[in-house]
Amino acid sequence: MFLSVFDMFKVGIGPSSSHTMGPMVAAARFLDMMRSSPFEFHGVRASLHGSLAFTGVGHATDRATILGLAGFVPETYDADRAEATLDEIRATKQIAAEGLPRLQFDPTVDLIFDYETPLSGHANGMTLLATDAQGDVTLREVFYSIGGGFVMTEAELAAGQDTSEDGPPIPYPFKSAAQMLEMSVSSGKNIAEMKRANEAARCGIEHLSKGTKRLWQVMNNCIERGMTTEGILPGGLQVKRRAKGIHDALMAERGMNLHAPHTINDWMSVYAMAVNEENAAGGQVVTAPTNGAAGVLPATLRYYLDHVPGASEAHIEDFLLTAAAIGGLVKYNASISGAEAGCQAEVGSAAAMAAAGLCAVMGGTPAQVENAAEIALEHHLGMTCDPVKGLVQVPCIERNGLGAIKAVSAASLALRGDGTHLVPLDACIETMRQTGLDMSEKYKETSLGGLAVNIPNC
Ligand code: SF4
Repeated sequence: MFLSVFDMFKVGIGPSSSHTMGPMVAAARFLDMMRSSPFEFHGVRASLHGSLAFTGVGHATDRATILGLAGFVPETYDADRAEATLDEIRATKQIAAEGLPRLQFDPTVDLIFDYETPLSGHANGMTLLATDAQGDVTLREVFYSIGGGFVMTEAELAAGQDTSEDGPPIPYPFKSAAQMLEMSVSSGKNIAEMKRANEAARCGIEHLSKGTKRLWQVMNNCIERGMTTEGILPGGLQVKRRAKGIHDALMAERGMNLHAPHTINDWMSVYAMAVNEENAAGGQVVTAPTNGAAGVLPATLRYYLDHVPGASEAHIEDFLLTAAAIGGLVKYNASISGAEAGCQAEVGSAAAMAAAGLCAVMGGTPAQVENAAEIALEHHLGMTCDPVKGLVQVPCIERNGLGAIKAVSAASLALRGDGTHLVPLDACIETMRQTGLDMSEKYKETSLGGLAVNIPNC
């Protein structure tokens, strides 16, 4: 099993990796299928199912699908060009995608939110259709957005296709935390060193080094933008952006000896909230492992760099590699999708990854790192996903702050032990998977239960 650090951390756009990035990626894949097809196409249609339908408007799934069909991809998304393209499509009822004839597409008719018929493979299903001049369907594909921006066709999902096996062999192919620790003992390498060797086998050290630097740059830029931007978030809930005000207050208090020791929690929160406010505003973020949970890991890393004595930027890559190793285990053995397993799979996974990264760069042994990840995930077990109005704002923004605080506490507790503990990380991940299966659909990114139905006037 191999999931690259660049699969876990992808530069993309808000507000959701599964509901915004995934559908855009699926549409881009469908365009490629059309380009390589012998048929002549005249129009396209799309239908959104399950959670993609229920929370699609709040998560901008409709916009993402249309823009994907027009050739946009998350990595190079240009917000200004996107608005102009959407206006043109609405006016002309046509899509112009590179390498294809102009395609008939009326967003009010050809994009359907199907609330009645969920698709069988996954809660986030979508069907894309291409038609000929007579309106007959000549190409059809079902895609599933399985979390974190990952997308599979119906056939790939049914075959359990693991594309991570494609490519050169990797030296440390651990599929569980137990295997990871065994390989660490037998090789004498820590988790980041094993992960680095795996990445090098697939993409080369130079690519890895440049890529991880860029990831942190995008994460940190996102924190900075969030801490300097005011206003009301889009979507109609009238949620006020708070990160700037909190950051300004924290800066004003610096050196004045006014604050209680727990003020450090506000720093962790403000970094995370800054990211998630940017995400909610549709800005550029890095999945970590998803958009909804994108603030936890950058906040924990920024906390390390700014507040931990002796911290060094030289350790950023080790932090990201260790976190990606843990995220890969969670995704492979359970889920990182809120629509599949609730928020325990998103913010819980993010906290486990961040705790592992922090523990590692603070000198933790592989056993302590595994312990840190387990503590962080264990104390998110059972957490539901119930975003108000289908927007990735409430409870998501604050929840990322609390996720970062738990991650730091988990790393600290693990560092105070010797790595021995009762609940193995593998057992915790399996518990998360089973709890996700048992969880009512109301609490899996459908906004049909929980906070989403108990807030007045929403
Ligand atoms: S509640 Fe959690 S899983 Fe659901 S959208 Fe918000 S961050 Fe994502």
